[in-house]
Amino acid sequence: MTEKRKARELILTHGTNSPFEIAAEKNIMVLFEDLGKQTWGYYSHTNRIPVIHINNRLNQEQSTYTCGHELGHALLHPRINTPFLRSNTFYSVDKLERQAHRLAVHLLVGLTDPEPGETKQQFLTRCGIPEMFHMFY
Ligand SMILES: [Zn+2]
Repeated sequence: MTEKRKARELILTHGTNSPFEIAAEKNIMVLFEDLGKQTWGYYSHTNRIPVIHINNRLNQEQSTYTCGHELGHALLHPRINTPFLRSNTFYSVDKLERQAHRLAVHLLVGLTDPEPGETKQQFLTRCGIPEMFHMFY
């Protein structure tokens, strides 16, 4: 299944495209922690407990994106220790990273359609996707 289809399925199942609400319904804990200047978040599954960790220094748009990205790992790669989402590896060619990015982008786009005349950049910004991740749409 593509990440786009998976995102649509999640939205239809949960009636929301909010990664925070979907994580809560799936009993995935979301913790806000100070992760320093470089790290946006990571996913862990210690003792079979899935946890999304988000840096509490991020703004709302960044933390929502990070939740979507880590939710992607939690659902697509639940038993794998995935790398930290860090500002120096945003454009990693790692397959798991790209899958998590695509799931986050398509989740945040949700069922929104572009307005006539709207550029791709304007559209994705309106959907709350930080500009550096537009390439994953
Ligand atoms: Zn990741």
